[in-house]
Amino acid sequence: MNATASQDTTTPAGYGPGTALVVVDVQHDFASPDGGLYVPGGDAVVPAVDTEVRAARDAGATVIYTQDWHPPVTPHFAKDGGVWPVHCVADTWGAELHRDLTVDGPVVRKGVDGGDGYSGFSVRDPVSGEEEATELGSLLTDAGVDRVVVVGLAGDVCVKATALDAQRLGFAVEVPLTTTAFVELEPGDGDRTVEELRAAGVRITARGPSAAQA
Ligand SMILES: [Zn+2]
Repeated sequence: MNATASQDTTTPAGYGPGTALVVVDVQHDFASPDGGLYVPGGDAVVPAVDTEVRAARDAGATVIYTQDWHPPVTPHFAKDGGVWPVHCVADTWGAELHRDLTVDGPVVRKGVDGGDGYSGFSVRDPVSGEEEATELGSLLTDAGVDRVVVVGLAGDVCVKATALDAQRLGFAVEVPLTTTAFVELEPGDGDRTVEELRAAGVRITARGPSAAQA
């Protein structure tokens, strides 16, 4: 199935072996109301994402997860000079992938060595600013996919950065709006993100590809 063939947002193409579903940071700290950096609406995203995971697996698509995974002290956190409340500290409940999420595929961790940055494809050294690739790019290349569906949290931060990188790397990229939620550090960030993704060539759909296979 060729994802670029149709721009019709009401009838998304389904999953198949040429597609990868990238599940970004569906972790308790982002998706649970009592999490450290709860994204409003994040709890509603979990079942929507899980539906996509199961449809993707049933259709033979690749499923890859990212997991924000920070040391207790990192310039990523406001208390240490960054912008975010403490979240996804390694080996805590908040950093676990959400209990209601089906996990069946490789998990790519980001931030492990205190690295900053939002994309699932890279980590940035907070001191030198140097970027280093994670294994996500090679996992996708090895899977032989040409289309990437990006879902999860937060839509205006890590989902956005991951989708833009995937687009730059030459994949056909889709972001279904029912499978993400926006943290809106600045009011309007959600709308601006949708515009930015569209301008970059990312296909914004209302529902995920599972809708085409229902
Ligand atoms: Zn983080």
